[in-house]
Amino acid sequence: MRDLRKKTEYRCDCGGYCGGWPCPMNPALLDKIEALRGVFGQPVIITSGVRCEARNAEVGGVAWSFHMRGCAADLYCPGVAVGELAGAAKDVGLNVLPYYAHGYIHVEI
Ligand SMILES: [Zn+2]
Ligand SMILES: [Zn+2]
Repeated sequence: MRDLRKKTEYRCDCGGYCGGWPCPMNPALLDKIEALRGVFGQPVIITSGVRCEARNAEVGGVAWSFHMRGCAADLYCPGVAVGELAGAAKDVGLNVLPYYAHGYIHVEI
């Protein structure tokens, strides 16, 4: 059976430190991101999902990063402003950290 907590878009994108899945994604996080997708009727692009320790260090993530537990994702929605996306993400129950300068938001639960 296909494990929905291991959707390819959330896979660790390191160059082979791990097998791609140091841990599965948190299903509650995925549900909320799907709800967010419904808000704009636009594609929501995941740029980072789960990260192994090595990958997290490589991208300069904090040592306690929720990415390492499958409880965080970075994403953007083409054509939707960061502030607007952040507001909608809060509305669906996510904790949000907007990166205005980089054009994406970090969400976690
Ligand atoms: Zn990895
Ligand atoms: Zn992040």
